[in-house]
Amino acid sequence: MTNLSHSSDKPRRVVLKISGEGFCPAHERGISMDAMSRLAEQVARSAQTGVQIAIIMGGGNILRGGQFKAANNAIQEATAHYMGMLATVINGLALQDAIENLGASTRLMTALHIDTVAEPYIRRKAIRHLEKGRIILLAGGTGSPYVTTDTAAAQRALELQADELLKATKVDGVYSDDPEKNPHAVFYNELSYADVLRQNLRVMDQEAIAKCKDHGMPIMVFNFRKEGNLERALSGERIGTAIKAV
Ligand code: UDP
Repeated sequence: MTNLSHSSDKPRRVVLKISGEGFCPAHERGISMDAMSRLAEQVARSAQTGVQIAIIMGGGNILRGGQFKAANNAIQEATAHYMGMLATVINGLALQDAIENLGASTRLMTALHIDTVAEPYIRRKAIRHLEKGRIILLAGGTGSPYVTTDTAAAQRALELQADELLKATKVDGVYSDDPEKNPHAVFYNELSYADVLRQNLRVMDQEAIAKCKDHGMPIMVFNFRKEGNLERALSGERIGTAIKAV
């Protein structure tokens, strides 16, 4: 009988969620080539070590669907969310070129069909790309409105059978409160999914945390702005807050 269990020497596979803020300097918007190159260099170097990397890009540096909610009714909320999903495709196209300029092989796959610029996301194809050492860039979130790319990251981490979901943020990990506003905020080395949900800690969407909780997907939240941190996270080093069942 075929043994379907994973061998212990199977390569590490991760899903990395980078918000739109990773594509521009702090407190700015749009796309910065410097920010993009910093990301690309670390990702390309990590891929060379054999880590299989799937990246989910956010789009908040361009727009988020929710920002149109209160403004007026001219743009329906669902339309605005599709605009947000398209923003993630713009980031994906930019990051793809930045990574490929360094000689690494990539595939941009989208949950929204935009066949002239990217492949449609097909789970089995995505896995094949990873196995071949290609960095996959997953744009368009889930392809459905009213959720964010955090939920897409949890979803893809599960279906691609990643070892870990890495959430890149601008702070060192998870705190009891916003450390940029409250100097007394307490840093957590480790948290359970239940704690994050119960305390309503603003790490990722509740939906994303709940998905990871239900299926035991470990999450690591870390500061991508610190030099070398992205590479360390991709390699499996514990540098931020680990969120898991215990
Ligand atoms: N979005 C969506 N469905 C998805 C993923 C994203 O509708 O599955 C839209 C949503 O409006 C979101 C925007 O795309 O605000 C950009 O994504 P996100 O807010 O997650 O970007 P980030 O904050 O990570 O930069």
